[in-house]
Amino acid sequence: MNSHKIQVTIWNEFIHERTSGALGDHIRKIYPDGIHRHLAASLLTDPRCTLTPVSLDQPSQGLPDALLNRTDVLFWWGHCAHQEVADELVERIALRVQQGMGLIVLHSGHRSKIFRRLMGTECRLRWREAGEKERLWVAAPGHPIVRGVPESFTLPHTEMYGEPFDIPDDGKPIFFSWYEGGNVFRSGVTFQRGAGKIFYFSPGHETYPIYHDENVLTVLRNALFWAAPVEMLPVRVTHQPEPPETIRTINPLETIDTAVLHAPSESKEKEL
Ligand code: ZN
Repeated sequence: MNSHKIQVTIWNEFIHERTSGALGDHIRKIYPDGIHRHLAASLLTDPRCTLTPVSLDQPSQGLPDALLNRTDVLFWWGHCAHQEVADELVERIALRVQQGMGLIVLHSGHRSKIFRRLMGTECRLRWREAGEKERLWVAAPGHPIVRGVPESFTLPHTEMYGEPFDIPDDGKPIFFSWYEGGNVFRSGVTFQRGAGKIFYFSPGHETYPIYHDENVLTVLRNALFWAAPVEMLPVRVTHQPEPPETIRTINPLETIDTAVLHAPSESKEKEL
């Protein structure tokens, strides 16, 4: 039996929870230590995984190489500080996803650099903050992410996220949401990028206790195990100078050194 524990890192920009004034006080009542620590405590009921909450204000923006390189599943909650996340970090995360790391993007993370980088689209949507009810429907019965989740459940107060949602067509809808105000949304969608599984889940607005909801926590726990890699792939090597079979065709350019043509992309690849 595999004794490897799934290393889960929960990244949060951790800004709304530290806002001053009545709004900050309200959010702190729901998440006194931040969404990342709340999720770590709420999901840490399973001995098969180790959860590490981190935030943007920490060294290396919370994700030094030593941590990222042993992370099996990364949760991402961000909203107002997407632009502060370093492009270089986004590239390191994208590479790790392509090697097999699972990525679970929460709520306003739809506009994060890492999600847009991996989607290749703007990921815009319609939104409204009116405290209305949301009803979620399971669109993929039998999928591991919906195990133990009722066919439909409601959140009494939510921020509306509505269609059109410009994500790529290869997304598989796992949940659809209907809102009291009439909008609809693909509120849970899976993707694969390289060897990595990605799940976007929209509930999670910080002014309502959405990550205290048992159905929502079940979805996140299921997503964690679904997204965990079976194995991590090594960084891809693209140059293959030695062919597996003998090439008998005479190379017409044998006497000319063409290496210079490949120099820029080769050096870029080494950086990665
Ligand atoms: Zn929100």
